[in-house]
Amino acid sequence: MKLYMASACLVGAACRYNGEAKTDETIRAMLARGEVVPFCPELLGGMDIPRPAMELSGGDGGAVLDGTARVLARNGGVDCTAAMQDGARRSLAIAFAVRPERIFLKARSPSCGCGAGGAEGVAAALLRRGGFMLDSIE
Ligand code: SF4
Repeated sequence: MKLYMASACLVGAACRYNGEAKTDETIRAMLARGEVVPFCPELLGGMDIPRPAMELSGGDGGAVLDGTARVLARNGGVDCTAAMQDGARRSLAIAFAVRPERIFLKARSPSCGCGAGGAEGVAAALLRRGGFMLDSIE
């Protein structure tokens, strides 16, 4: 059976910064069939629910990985860069274990964002560097 990975909020986990999910029924049905391994880079990085909304500052996720940009909380600018880098590395470790056909990622997230909807997130950038196929889900 083919295996996929997906942002945990897409399968219905209430793990977004505001304690909500962003359920995609197609991805949720895949989970019910045992085809999807969910993961949340921000929780893997040690962050809580809820947590401040964050934004990329000075570049995209790839630049954060390279140390030339940061991730800052919107309410006060606390630097979340190290946690985001940790979460990306742990996400990549899971992907190397699962070897998914594709990884479905929530659009417009500083971690999971990829595709045309805004800058690529930190975890998305590392997963892409790892050679994985990414799909963006709104
Ligand atoms: S980090 Fe990714 S999986 Fe976690 S809540 Fe944000 S978009 Fe969803």
